[in-house]
Amino acid sequence: MRLIDTHAHIGLINEDPIEQLIIVQEAKQELVEAIVSISNNLRDFFQIYENLKTESHVFHAIGVSPSEVAHPGPDWESKIKEGTKLKRIVAIGEIGLDYYHKFGDKDSQIELFIHQLEMAERYNLPVVIHNREAGEDVLNILREKLPAKGGILHCYSENYAYAQKALELNLFISFAGNVTYRNAKNLHETALNMPLDRMLIETESPFMVPAAYRGKRNKPSYLVETIKFIAELRNMDVEELAEKLFENSVNFFSIKEHFA
Ligand SMILES: [Zn+2]
Repeated sequence: MRLIDTHAHIGLINEDPIEQLIIVQEAKQELVEAIVSISNNLRDFFQIYENLKTESHVFHAIGVSPSEVAHPGPDWESKIKEGTKLKRIVAIGEIGLDYYHKFGDKDSQIELFIHQLEMAERYNLPVVIHNREAGEDVLNILREKLPAKGGILHCYSENYAYAQKALELNLFISFAGNVTYRNAKNLHETALNMPLDRMLIETESPFMVPAAYRGKRNKPSYLVETIKFIAELRNMDVEELAEKLFENSVNFFSIKEHFA
């Protein structure tokens, strides 16, 4: 079995650079053959990139998350442009809208989101999308602005009806550990009924720890728990599901050569 964690905040799991290396190496021993490292701001991105640059199985998304809307940092656009030239940069992200936390006002969030969608188009990269209580606005914007390389609705948290609208845009839907929670009926319904060729899997570590590890801090090596849960839900073989999700990830992030 081989797995890819499409979304992990390595820098938030542990601040210590040595521990971060241990976390990604341990994940590899637990069959997580690639990790997409996500940062919320560019300072964190460059720090984690530098620390993990020897780790050829760690890929990176670069972008400014809605949490940073009030302070994206000086020269953030040119920093993203420079960042996209680095090795193993596979997406712009995470970007999106978060109306739950009320970061800045809606208009500034929307402006930052659209701006980065346009950058993704310019730099020929897909996007990793954060949506919290902003579902309709996210879809309306993506109908106009989704870059050619596509996008992931990460840490999926909407219902199945919403998923169907997202699938019409050819978006990918990525499930995190919260799909394993007993009362997450909307997520179960979505994971059960959606087409497998649009599904991805992630930890969103250190958050959203799978039910089996409740109370612990999530990390990429726990990814398999979420796959096991979805396999059981869909009444299919874990290995078969894992391989399908692996293929989806490789294709979405265009990292096939890495596994040749
Ligand atoms: Zn995240």
